Amino acid sequence: MLTLAALLLTACGAGKKEKIQVVVLGFDGANWPTIDPLIAEGKLPFIQKLKQECAWADFQTDVPTKSAVVWTSIATGKTMLKHGILDFAFVQANNIQVPYSNAEKREPSLWQMLDRFNMRSVVINWFVTYPPDSFNGVMVSDRFRQILNKKPEAANEMIDTVHPSMDFYRLKQVVRRDYREIIERIDLPDFPEMFQELHPDSNFRKSFTLGNSRAFVKQDALVEDVTDLLFKTKEADLYMTYFRLPDVVQHFVLGLIPDEQLEGVFYEGRDWSISEEKRREVTGRIAKVMEPVYRYMDRLLAKYMSDPRFRDAYFLVMSDHGFSLYGGGYNHYNLPDGIGPPPGILLVKGPGVRPGKIDASIYDIAPTVLHLFGLPLDRAMDGKPLRDIFKLSRKAKYTTYRLDREKKSIARSESDRETLEELKALGYIN
Ligand SMILES: [Zn+2]
Repeated sequence: MLTLAALLLTACGAGKKEKIQVVVLGFDGANWPTIDPLIAEGKLPFIQKLKQECAWADFQTDVPTKSAVVWTSIATGKTMLKHGILDFAFVQANNIQVPYSNAEKREPSLWQMLDRFNMRSVVINWFVTYPPDSFNGVMVSDRFRQILNKKPEAANEMIDTVHPSMDFYRLKQVVRRDYREIIERIDLPDFPEMFQELHPDSNFRKSFTLGNSRAFVKQDALVEDVTDLLFKTKEADLYMTYFRLPDVVQHFVLGLIPDEQLEGVFYEGRDWSISEEKRREVTGRIAKVMEPVYRYMDRLLAKYMSDPRFRDAYFLVMSDHGFSLYGGGYNHYNLPDGIGPPPGILLVKGPGVRPGKIDASIYDIAPTVLHLFGLPLDRAMDGKPLRDIFKLSRKAKYTTYRLDREKKSIARSESDRETLEELKALGYIN
């Protein structure tokens, strides 16, 4: 019986496609210079193993190195000027009107390209996904996490943050609000307490990212719970989820290092350079503070990548940028002249993937995912599929992917304003 079925499938040739699954895991701001020292100390056993057994890259990013822009480039394969999710400085300089929302996006993202072929995607917390798109699959927009700011009895006001909305009711049941319970469970320190111990005379709330760090920690823990639920219960071809703690914590990480250990980083000098020795030393201290955050990432990767459900899946693990240490600060945007956009990380795992270092950029992800599924590429994309690392024979086909206007989301100005303020305060936009 089984053999007959198999024969029929083979005879039909194109009838039954090979079952390909792709999982994209995003970690904002993760970077090798702060991960490698922890690998060397044996603190990140899963990432260590991945880096040995997978294809990996210093993931090339682009200016403006703003998260909203870059994560949209990752999902579309296109530059900012094409996809229309703009850096706010650029928007202002060119007199372009807000709202700044998913409704402004001009190019389709991967989940919309797959939709054209009736393939399903599950997309969780991806940047600039509110209001959620309508497509074959589930989208938990990056607005859903704000449910933590609502009293449980008012949670239903967030129903428009999820597509399809019926999934909202299941998701709101996984929301956990107790911060102390959460940091114990995911094994993170309380960053504001760390800061106050070092700086008893300053108020941690003066820094926006540190002042809101407890909210950000709760949000990533919620994203984990949502991801666990949807990865387990939803059948899909493509899964994408996004965590942002590595970025958030690096924005206040220097405040968690004793001042005397930062001598030579903040000085009244005229140039931005710091000695190589100083860079190594301070980067090592940053890595130390980042350890619990990366260990959390290590556990998340181990959980999803070891799940028997995804045994034959292709995994693309990435960040949108790294950070640069220079005389005057530690950042990924507004960098002094001559310092390029700091690369992020990329790891690719899957059946037959050739291990070792590769060249890859943020624009290569969308074409690579299309390549894995055997779908046509789009010449308007700014990257190429990472063909060489896979053992797949694919004929190069091309098409033009367009946004389906009928399925386009509608801007909602109030939440746009709130999102804008949050993005500005985090430095994602100017
Ligand atoms: Zn970022």
